[in-house]
Amino acid sequence: MAVDVDDYRPALQAAAGHAQRWLEGVGTRPVRPSATADELAGRLAVPLPAEGAPPQQVVDELATTAEPGLLAIQSGRFFGWVMGGTLPAALAADWLVSAWDQNAGLRYATPAVAALEEAAAGWVLELLGLPRGSGVGFTTGATTANFTCLAAARSRVLRDVGWDLDADGLTGGPRVHVLVGAERHDTVDLALRYLGLGRPAVVAADDQGRVEVTALRTALAAVPREAPLIVCLQAGNVHSGAFDPFTEAVAAVRESRSPGGRAGEGGAAATWVHVDGAFGLWAAACPELRHLTSGVAGADSWTTDAHKTLNTPYDCGIAAVREPADLRRAMGVHTSYLVADVTGAGDPLEHVPELSRRARGVPVWAALRSLGSDGVARLVGGLAANARALAGGIADVPGATVLNDVVHTQVCVAFEDDERTRAVTQRLLAGGEAWMSGSRWRGRDVMRISVSNAATDAEDVRRSVQAVRAAATERALTG
Ligand SMILES: *Cc1c(COP(=O)(O)O)cnc(C)c1O
Repeated sequence: MAVDVDDYRPALQAAAGHAQRWLEGVGTRPVRPSATADELAGRLAVPLPAEGAPPQQVVDELATTAEPGLLAIQSGRFFGWVMGGTLPAALAADWLVSAWDQNAGLRYATPAVAALEEAAAGWVLELLGLPRGSGVGFTTGATTANFTCLAAARSRVLRDVGWDLDADGLTGGPRVHVLVGAERHDTVDLALRYLGLGRPAVVAADDQGRVEVTALRTALAAVPREAPLIVCLQAGNVHSGAFDPFTEAVAAVRESRSPGGRAGEGGAAATWVHVDGAFGLWAAACPELRHLTSGVAGADSWTTDAHKTLNTPYDCGIAAVREPADLRRAMGVHTSYLVADVTGAGDPLEHVPELSRRARGVPVWAALRSLGSDGVARLVGGLAANARALAGGIADVPGATVLNDVVHTQVCVAFEDDERTRAVTQRLLAGGEAWMSGSRWRGRDVMRISVSNAATDAEDVRRSVQAVRAAATERALTG
């Protein structure tokens, strides 16, 4: 039976209409949702009707039901967690990815999306200043990119000491030592947990959350020289935006180990340096910020996200591994019915945990193609400039203190005491004019700002500073 486009057209047109109305209103509606998940779940908790409904009616019902529970993440005044908006070309490409319905695992079967993802991967490596031949996998996010990179690390450092992880598993094998900075992202621990590597040893961080190289040297000295070792560094601390000192840290790791045996820049056997750069790695694409990532290319693997700084739709993370063979050994699957790529380029399914997946690298290609390298530099530089402007404006609000050096896209603000900070944050969120999420950093409650949205402009910054000022002075006004 032929696919009848008339079966699709009304639903697709309805969806396009709803999407455009959403985008039209996203900058003017309150940033916060107006209904809770419980309220919406209550409305949706009906028995599944025996009779289906026409596609267009389903789409209309979906959009109408969801509307009050949508968070305006695409608003230029949304600064919660680390969440980007969506660029027009990336959003439209994401629609095409769904319409094409390609299962992106095999090069010979779905050549168009495989080639587009390879082109996107090449552009990403170039923009981020990473080694050209690195293996790249498009994952669901940075959490799975950390998992993917650390799986490659685990298998490689064990192989280097003669332990075949694939054949013999972890049980009874040599202990893999893992060092992480005190302020690494929690998903690094999560990835280590998935991988059976247990709780890592923690290296002290300085007042901006950067790994202290002297503490790293001490921690390295405690690891037996021949033992398998993984060290996790960070590009972009979620609170301060700070970057670990890569040049010094990578040198400290290499110097602490027996020389030789390992490819890459001065690598040592059974040693792996991984960098979680979910949002921060994009500083490398901007000339004014590139110095923050200096030395990062000396690592063995890198995690980043496209759905944060690059402003593609969810879900899109990127795992890059210096030696493609290490990535394939950890992630590859070889069965008779999956005819493998014979060109030597490697199949996409050898680079990620999933077998079947959407071609999530295609929106990355579209985002980069629409921006160009100058546009990426402007995007990243603009986010950092807006962060500095927000910090400058909020520093003038009575009682507010900016706690971090604003080197990138993150700002942490505290008011007179923890209770005040929490109250001001809650009032700001309830007001709906802007969204900044609460957190705790260095023993204090903070209002956290992450500028990750390409849509934020000077007017958004002005209005957001004004909203913080109003939330902070309301108590004074009302008693
Ligand atoms: C957001 C973030 C993660 C997790 O990324 P997801 O895409 O949400 O899985 C990991 N590390 C850092 C530094 C992050 O900012």
